[in-house]
Parts: sequence; structure tokens; C-alpha cells
Amino acid sequence: MQKRFHKIQFNDRSLEVQQVPFDLKDYVYFFLKRVVALGVIAAASIYTFDRWFESPADVARDRELAFLKDQLEGLNEDLAQMDAVLADISHRDDAIYRSIFGTDPYPAYLRNPGVGGVDRTKHLAGHAWSEELIAVSEGVAELQRKLVAQSRSFDEVLDLARNNTELLKSIPAIQPVRNEDLKRMASGYGYRIHPIYKVRKFHYGMDFSAPTGTEIFATGDGEVILAKRTYNGFGRHVIIRHGFGYETLYAHMSEILVKRGDKVRRGDLIGLVGSTGTSVAPHLHYEVHKDGKRLNPAHFYFNDLTPEQYEELLMQSEQENQSFD
Ligand SMILES: [Zn+2]
Repeated sequence: MQKRFHKIQFNDRSLEVQQVPFDLKDYVYFFLKRVVALGVIAAASIYTFDRWFESPADVARDRELAFLKDQLEGLNEDLAQMDAVLADISHRDDAIYRSIFGTDPYPAYLRNPGVGGVDRTKHLAGHAWSEELIAVSEGVAELQRKLVAQSRSFDEVLDLARNNTELLKSIPAIQPVRNEDLKRMASGYGYRIHPIYKVRKFHYGMDFSAPTGTEIFATGDGEVILAKRTYNGFGRHVIIRHGFGYETLYAHMSEILVKRGDKVRRGDLIGLVGSTGTSVAPHLHYEVHKDGKRLNPAHFYFNDLTPEQYEELLMQSEQENQSFD
């Protein structure tokens, strides 16, 4: 095997083509050409690889960033949900608790105080998904402000409650039948299908389905102002006046156990469940009136329900089913 490189050369004198060994210059050219070619190929390969194929580290980093972005978006959705729950609590605070004590709704400018002043999210700008980060950060800050306001409003309500013991005894604050397992609530306040006319009608009370003879209780202290029987409509029914603008109505009884003028305390037995009047099955139709307006009784069971039970009952009562009337 030949160790040395040769080149082909034309000999002017002998006029022959002959092989001559490489000299130093030839070697330098020979290797330089190859090095340059290899360099070009390598550079092109790296460029192409980089462009079309990501390194495992890049892939891992991209996956990590996508995961973080997902989490951020999830947090934003959670925040929106919490905000909705808080809005519901605030609404109940204004429309029910504060109105029970005859006080004004908590002022809007206190409920949702602005931020003002320094831009707290400045340091979050200029990063990947800064937009999502800023949204989460602002959402949390806003929720905190609203929660503080809501808690202040509840402090006021608590003060009002402490100074209104007479009112607290009088407001209809329990369910009119035993309903520990919340199975009795059959139809709530709102649009319902009328059981006889089969049309959508506003149902101004709450129906508790229970066997004939089930005990019915006064839901707050007061005086019986009506105890009578009609052959349609409410059938045997009782109205109690509690004062402070409150009255409650108990309809379709099988038996009335009080008479007009009787003073009753919350929890006193006043009658038994039946199906008298316009009714399709034994049940108690119960209404809460305040200043002549018929309110949703579901908002008044704060004395005998835990917050979880209250939520459950409220959910049940909002189902648009058929009322018993
Ligand atoms: Zn009813």
C-alpha cells in the first residue's frame, strides 16, 4: 500500500505524464480543502438540526412552560368562580340579611374599592405569559379587597342582629316542618308548572311534601291573624303576623290547631299537613310576606340550617319542577 500521496504531472521535457510525490505545499492545500469542506458541512448540519429538531432540553423546557401556562389559565378560571361566589354572598347580604334589619345595602364604593396609586404588576411584565400572570395577580388582589369589604359588612349585620333580639325572635327563621334530611322540600319559589292547569305560573311559596298529619310549626314569634277553611285555593290555612312587616302563611292543612288571636312562639305546633283546597297531594304550601310582598322562603331558614345544608336546600328549591300548589 502506498503511504505517500501522489499527484499527476505533465513533464515538459520528457513530454510524459508522470506521478510525482506531494511536496509540503501540496499537503497543506490537500488538508486545508478537506478541513474547509468538513467545516461547511458541520455548520450546515448544526444549523439544520437546530432548526428542524429540538434538543431534549428544549423539549422539556417547552413542556414545562406549557404546563405553567395551563396552570395559570386554570387559576384564572378558579378566580372567576370565586368572584362569582363572592358576588352571590354579597347579593344575599344586601338583599336578605341587610334588608331583614331594614338597613341600606353596603355601599358599592366600599364593596369594590379601587386600587389606585402604584402599579403592582409592573414587575410581572416582559416575561413569557406575563398577561396571564398579571391577570392572576390582579384577580387575587381584587378578591382580597372584596373579601375584606364583605367581612366588614357582615360585622355591621352582626351588630344589628345583637341589638335587635325582638326582631330576631319574630322573623320566620326556621322551616315549618321537620326536614333534617332535606327530603321534604318539593318545590320552591319561582316559575313552576301548575299541577292542575299544567301551565308555567309563578309559585309564591315553598312546598314541603309530607304525609297527612305531619306537624306544622310557627316559624317565628307572632299572633295568628287568620285561621280558616276555604274549599279551593289554600284550603285550611293559617296566617301569622310576626311584626316588623313579616307574615307567614301555611296552607292545605288537614287540621288547624290554633285560632285567630292566639299568640305563638317559634316552634309552636299550629296544624297538621293535609291536602285541602287546590292541592294534588298532601303537602304544606308555605309563604313568607314582608310589607305585603311575597319573598322566597328559602332565604329565611338561617336558624336551623348549616351553610352546607342551606346551599343544598337553595339548589333543590331552584329546580324548575311542578309545584303541588
Ligand atoms: Zn305551593
